[in-house]
Amino acid sequence: MTRGRFTAAAAALALGAAPLLGAPSATAAAADPSTVYRVAGAAPRAAELVARGVDLLERRTGDDLYVLGGDVERVAALGLTATPQGPAAAPVTTRSAAAGTYYGGYRTVAGQYAHLDSVAAAHPDLAAVVTYGQSWLKTQGRGGNDLRAICLTKITGADCSRSAGGKPKFFLMAQVHSREISTGEVAYRWVDHLVDGYGTDPAVTALMDSTEMWVVPVANPDGVDIVASGGDDPILQRKNANDSHGDCGTGSTGVDLNRNADSHWGYSGTSDDPCSEVFLGPAPDSEVENSALESLFSDLWADRRADGDATAAPADTTGMFITLHADAAQVIFPWGHDAAVHTGNDAALRAFGAEMGDVLGYESGQAGEILYDSAGGTEDWVYDKLGVAAYTIEVGDNEGRGCGGFLPPYSCQDSYYFPKLLPALVLAAQKAAAPYAS
Ligand SMILES: [Zn+2]
Repeated sequence: MTRGRFTAAAAALALGAAPLLGAPSATAAAADPSTVYRVAGAAPRAAELVARGVDLLERRTGDDLYVLGGDVERVAALGLTATPQGPAAAPVTTRSAAAGTYYGGYRTVAGQYAHLDSVAAAHPDLAAVVTYGQSWLKTQGRGGNDLRAICLTKITGADCSRSAGGKPKFFLMAQVHSREISTGEVAYRWVDHLVDGYGTDPAVTALMDSTEMWVVPVANPDGVDIVASGGDDPILQRKNANDSHGDCGTGSTGVDLNRNADSHWGYSGTSDDPCSEVFLGPAPDSEVENSALESLFSDLWADRRADGDATAAPADTTGMFITLHADAAQVIFPWGHDAAVHTGNDAALRAFGAEMGDVLGYESGQAGEILYDSAGGTEDWVYDKLGVAAYTIEVGDNEGRGCGGFLPPYSCQDSYYFPKLLPALVLAAQKAAAPYAS
């Protein structure tokens, strides 16, 4: 199905706004595909909305969910009411001048990777860059990107050598959903915080001496290239750039990497429509961005958990994993595929989720408890296959600071998001040594 094809009149009718048909400016505003709409009472019908191809944003208030303007017609067809929440982002007034940036300062993939290289070059005793694979476009010889991580620690012996054992490991990844652009900027600043604070900040020094901190700032670099190609009007690309299953147009083509992982693949919150924003791909781990990342995870952590949804990883399991998403302002832990099923480590995962939630001012829970069920996500895979404590942090502005949505003004990164996230990231890194210990 083609996105953005509905007319202003159709949108006005779908909104129940027929009296406004004589006011072109109002109907044009209603049809804006980048405007966020709140859909009353949608949460109990999330599966139905996904089945209709609706792109549910990662945000929830009570039983209300959120969509973009392009889905207003589909929402209305199900008898639900969508109310515009205003422009998705504040306007950016100055075109970014710095190399490797777009939209007022957000880093492109090239900007992120140049940063990793410069950090490693400046701090060879504290940082090592690892290329762990290639993006889909690169495997096709169509440009694309390497897949890159950085390992940060006071390097001695076999540290940062892509092997299990040694220091406990904290892994942070961002922008697996490429349009969630705040997350890559949080990862960027986390890297700097660690190398800049070593030897001066006691908490950072202790962490760097005891723990490996791995960071993937852009888990979906082809998607980020598409987002950044919009410049001051970023394209809301969520999925990777794999167009082999169908060309759905700019911004809507690809596989949802956070539905494609081989953990309860094809369960709730997924679609087999290639043009759906939650298209799960033709097979579990079909996408190279996922298989390469999972191969890295499997090298860094030995499998400590036997199969079975209720089987626990042992209390002496080490490791901590966080994937950053936007913009629900939530802390989420497995299982994502079904909130009615709890993990064997539920008490420990839930307790630390609540602890991070308290620090952030975010609610915490399994996805289906506080957002909506979704299967095949990265944190479910990490816990399922390896037993490592795994979380999604949905960054978000639940305080009315003008920093909400996918495309907040760049100034929000230094003024709001990184200061907000930093204490939780430090806490998570400190927990990597013994996440399940009581
Ligand atoms: Zn996301």
